[in-house]
Amino acid sequence: MNKKPLEKINCNFCNSDNYKIVYVKEGYNIVQCNVCELVYVNPRLTIEAVNDLYNEDYFTGKGFDESVQYKNEFEENIEKTTLMDWDAATIKELLTKENPLNENFKLLDIGCGMGLFLYKARKLGFDVEGLELSQYASEFARSKGLDVKNETIDSADLGTEKYDAIVMKEVIEHLPDPMKSLEKIFNSLKKGGLLFLTTGNYDCPERKLRGKDWFYFMPEGHLFVFSNKTMDNYLNKVGFRNVRVTNQGDLVMDLLLKWNILEPDKFKPDAAIKRILFEGIRGINHFISSGLRVYAVK
Ligand SMILES: [Zn+2]
Repeated sequence: MNKKPLEKINCNFCNSDNYKIVYVKEGYNIVQCNVCELVYVNPRLTIEAVNDLYNEDYFTGKGFDESVQYKNEFEENIEKTTLMDWDAATIKELLTKENPLNENFKLLDIGCGMGLFLYKARKLGFDVEGLELSQYASEFARSKGLDVKNETIDSADLGTEKYDAIVMKEVIEHLPDPMKSLEKIFNSLKKGGLLFLTTGNYDCPERKLRGKDWFYFMPEGHLFVFSNKTMDNYLNKVGFRNVRVTNQGDLVMDLLLKWNILEPDKFKPDAAIKRILFEGIRGINHFISSGLRVYAVK
């Protein structure tokens, strides 16, 4: 029996209360809006109860998501070329295309964990800042000389037209009000600035095959599950003009790196054969990935 406090909500995108229940998991309804197709948990934990989830246990893999393991993440990956290097290089390439005269880009990572991505982005020349809900992780990041505040997107002052890039990896599904958060991010980006985010993909084959057993359904903490379409809806409504929602999950991109097809610090490989392989595997991945990779320009 679930005794935690619950609240009933309307659709965060279109405010409709017209929905159908698509799955029931761990006592929670996962519903889909009949108007805009957004998938969300309803009723869900109250905001106070959600905030209580992110204690020290969560960040050491003992919470609702056992894959969250902050410990050792930094040391294990600091010298390795990882997907984070590719992401940072991609962001730099896209920003340079949009803003050819600017060289000194200011980047904010919301939910930056131990600061590994910030560390790598700084190496590429970005001027970096981070926000992190976990006191433990934010203290660690500061000990590495990174400017990381122990704050949430709701509590932080993000300023107006302050950043060239805002990064939010596997965070938006946890936020109680994605519309409000995306509006705040939009306001905080400079004109020509870029939002990069990753999250789950409701339309992936694994969800269709496994139904409620899809690993991504964690109804206490994953409050929203987006698709290409519903993510696109949000970004366009908030005002982003150049929106690219792809299905590049981390797993396949990691393999491309491991197989040496994707070259470090390169958005796309230079060599022709690698480029064909790269595009081919990405094309196949488009149909199988359980993740969304989103790039949106203000
Ligand atoms: Zn809706």
